[in-house]
Amino acid sequence: MLRFLSPRALRRVAPLAACALLAACASAPPRNPLATWVPSPNYDVRRPVLIVIHFTDEDSVQRSLEILRTRNSGGPVSAHYLVGADGHIYQLVADTQRAWQAGAGHWGTITDVNSASIGIELDNDGHVPFAPAQIASLLRLLDDLTTRLRIPRTQVIGHEDLAPGRKVDPGPLFPWRQLAEAGYGLWPQGPFVDPPAGFDPWQALALVGYPLEDRAATVRSFHHHFRGTEGDALDADDLRMLYALTRQLTDSGTMAGSGAAPGAKTE
Ligand SMILES: [Zn+2]
Repeated sequence: MLRFLSPRALRRVAPLAACALLAACASAPPRNPLATWVPSPNYDVRRPVLIVIHFTDEDSVQRSLEILRTRNSGGPVSAHYLVGADGHIYQLVADTQRAWQAGAGHWGTITDVNSASIGIELDNDGHVPFAPAQIASLLRLLDDLTTRLRIPRTQVIGHEDLAPGRKVDPGPLFPWRQLAEAGYGLWPQGPFVDPPAGFDPWQALALVGYPLEDRAATVRSFHHHFRGTEGDALDADDLRMLYALTRQLTDSGTMAGSGAAPGAKTE
């Protein structure tokens, strides 16, 4: 039909048509043609239930910003946030969008971690301590995200926790204890006592959320996170910590990946 319009008329009509199309797209949500559209006002945006911490393993913020925004040689990756060593917070993907940051792996019942999480990259190569200004900014960001998006404060994990053996970030130098003291992430509380006979540490690790496909790798991730050490064999201290964690999770009724925010509407 447009071919019958004069070039002048076309110049006049085409922008109007484009506007109408854009307006329709902006106001109408995608609808399934199989169904009759009977809209309800009772909804909001889907919200993430988990926060994943990474280190960039790069030597500068600029290099990291470039990698997280291009089709780099290792394949396209991104994150919602990048925190510089100086504490500056960059946002690269909206909270409501699915950043490509977690990749393969799982945590508790969450099998598509990218769909369920916010990813935060920290400018750090894994070999030096995380800068105090950077951790201070991370804590401010965690306060904002857990408050605004109602993500449970215990649902903060490392990339290596959900992908043992494939990932090692944020590594043993990341200050998980400091985060726990500020109220973020799961952390074992005392008293630390020997578990009863029959206690299964693997079941405990799975209850916390850890994958068990490669058990030695899982223990390495657990050691990085909870003890700041290397090692792939469980010892007596690990068993006491895992028993304490099990008691906490059982008492609070919180299961890894459940995403049940206290006081959140359940409908
Ligand atoms: Zn990572």
